[in-house]
Amino acid sequence: MIRLSGIEKQFANQLVLKGVGLKLEAGTVTALIGPSGSGKSTLLRCVNLLERPDAGQLVLEESELDFAHGISRAQVLALRQQTGMVFQSFQLFPHMTVLENVTEGLVTVLKWPKERALTRGRELLDKVGLSHKADSVPATLSGGQQQRVAIARALAPSPKVLLCDEPTSALDPELALEVVAVLRQLAREGTTMLIATHDLRLAAQIAQQVIFLEAGEVVEEGSAHQMFTAPRRARTLAYISTLT
Ligand code: ATP
Ligand code: MG
Repeated sequence: MIRLSGIEKQFANQLVLKGVGLKLEAGTVTALIGPSGSGKSTLLRCVNLLERPDAGQLVLEESELDFAHGISRAQVLALRQQTGMVFQSFQLFPHMTVLENVTEGLVTVLKWPKERALTRGRELLDKVGLSHKADSVPATLSGGQQQRVAIARALAPSPKVLLCDEPTSALDPELALEVVAVLRQLAREGTTMLIATHDLRLAAQIAQQVIFLEAGEVVEEGSAHQMFTAPRRARTLAYISTLT
């Protein structure tokens, strides 16, 4: 279980997250929706500490961080290992092969022996349907394939949660589908995920829980069914209506 409470983040004089709280049950998928600039990416980045929240708490199973009191480098590294991140723009290492992209963090950060990392890497490429591309470089892959490599890479250290920031929005609809298929399979296998997306179809297909964020605040949260068929807040309905 992962719980955030009172998360605040300020950039210059703009308060971007105004005390955000959320709870992710293990084995469930949560979609984070909301208008552009509402703070979705910032919130995801706060979960794996690419951004340091100014205040609030994060509880991830046995670890508990209180940002107002500062956190140590060791805590940052520990949290990073427990949170995998997938970006809109894939962010693969261009000079490495697909297999090396997946194993790099295991070898250099986690100090796994090379053979063990390669075995894990091949296993994950098989899971995302890309075993045949292991020795290719990212530039020779389609966007959908590159995103599947990025997912395999994020899963390599067996994180407690997979954070996905607009995982399909840089892709043509057809390529997005193959990424959605992989995410659906992961959801069926019980991968805990938090997915920021403008794609309500993706959200409806794989999320159990939906959180609507606006101007750095959670406006409404509920089951996917409730949020998409009978939102309680007029604002949620208005937003959903713009996308459907
Ligand atoms: P989108 O749907 O367009 O991806 P978002 O909901 O992910 O939007 P964020 O990217 O989290 O929104 O941005 C929230 C606000 O924080 C925006 O006003 C943005 O300009 C601001 N912001 C984000 N990152 C930074 C930064 N590093 N420095 C300054 N301002 C930032
Ligand atoms: Mg964003």
